[in-house]
Amino acid sequence: MKLNGLAAVLAAGFAVASFAAMASKEDQVPHGPTAVAILKDVDGKQVARVVLTETLSQTLHITAEFDGIPPGVHGFHVHEFGLCEPTFAAAGGHFAPEGHEHGIDVPDGPHAGDLPNIHVPENGKLVVEYFTKTLDLAPDDKNSLIGGPGRALIVHADPDDYHSQPTGNAGARIACGVIVPVTQNADGFQSYPEGAASESK
Ligand code: ZN
Repeated sequence: MKLNGLAAVLAAGFAVASFAAMASKEDQVPHGPTAVAILKDVDGKQVARVVLTETLSQTLHITAEFDGIPPGVHGFHVHEFGLCEPTFAAAGGHFAPEGHEHGIDVPDGPHAGDLPNIHVPENGKLVVEYFTKTLDLAPDDKNSLIGGPGRALIVHADPDDYHSQPTGNAGARIACGVIVPVTQNADGFQSYPEGAASESK
């Protein structure tokens, strides 16, 4: 079994390296476990690519590249289930493993999955980075984005007001993507990868 374990580690390392080689040159070499989400709109068109990497300080580094989101201010959140079909409603509510309320403007907020609004310019192109210590990629951690049923990233039609319950009054879900480890097929848009999901509760 030792040999099998070693082979698995080597395979994972190779997959991470391959992904890094494919990524744009602005991307940093991953320090630790990395996951990716490809967000598509309701017509199935890709509108964002998000890379999530655990860093040496155990901070999660999120880089989101949007291309094709309508101009304006939009809510952007991690949702509790790694599902975008049959409709984006399948992703459930905001990811909140500690049971907090929604938004940074309430005393018991925010949800772990609450991210800052994105401000998309006229050309629809935007790159944003986030650092957070309330989300991670450890499969056995309650704040993990890749354990259990997986998680999804969703862009909303309207801004998050940072206080209305339970979603910040951010309106319709206009783009959705499942967060998948880079050792999985990143095309796993429709649902969390089989096998990984079966380990869940
Ligand atoms: Zn929330």
